[in-house]
Amino acid sequence: MPELAEVEWFRKQWNAGIGAAIVDLVFHQKNRVFRETDVRALRESLIGQKLLRSHRRGKRMLFQFSGDNWLGIHLGMTGKIHVRSANYRPAKHDHLVLIQRERALVFTDSRQFGRVRFHHGADEPDWCKSKAPEINSREFDQNLMNGFLDRHRKAPIKAALLMQHRFPGIGNWMADEILWRAKVLPSKRIRNLSSQDRHQVFRATKFVVRRSLETLGKDFSDPPKEWLIHQKWKRDGVCPKHRIPLRHATVAGRTTAWCPKCQK
Ligand SMILES: [Zn+2]
Repeated sequence: MPELAEVEWFRKQWNAGIGAAIVDLVFHQKNRVFRETDVRALRESLIGQKLLRSHRRGKRMLFQFSGDNWLGIHLGMTGKIHVRSANYRPAKHDHLVLIQRERALVFTDSRQFGRVRFHHGADEPDWCKSKAPEINSREFDQNLMNGFLDRHRKAPIKAALLMQHRFPGIGNWMADEILWRAKVLPSKRIRNLSSQDRHQVFRATKFVVRRSLETLGKDFSDPPKEWLIHQKWKRDGVCPKHRIPLRHATVAGRTTAWCPKCQK
């Protein structure tokens, strides 16, 4: 499932079309990805409008068009954003194609857990506003994180990291990466974290977000070689530091990997 850095990379794909008008729209009207969308309004409003800019909030993308039109896309499990040539013929899983004179902006999603939303209005839509500051912003600091952890003292730390309203954009692989780097067991209850643990989790969260935006988010290149992600999904994956086998279990409902030596 795409997490913050992958979403950032996909968001930028449509930048090729900034400044150009939408001349036609092709979509699979009955598709689940449009479950919260008035597709007629979407079509009538977007044709003739120019793509102005795009934003990312956690795992959500927001594309702003002229005429006060906004298109939100959540990639769900398998969603992808592409650019194709203007005469592109949409394939089965291309649920929304915005056609410009020189290119086609394509949203494709084979499993349809993604979501397309449309909003017409001067301001950014409410469904895209978030009270949670982005992790790579200055507002996301140790105090903010501590306050949140104090309200979830019974939860395993991994469950807290997956809460989108506080850690926007963090998903399964980033949470494991953060906890491995912070040397904290994913199943450790928040009430049992020392202040040193909290500090390490905070630092690791900032670091993993920043470095993954600089690699994956920038050009879809791999995160640094010594990261856990390269071992996490392997059956015989090892700790990048100790080369001992990783442990695996379900924590917070998600497949989780950790190093029994690094993480306590
Ligand atoms: Zn280790």
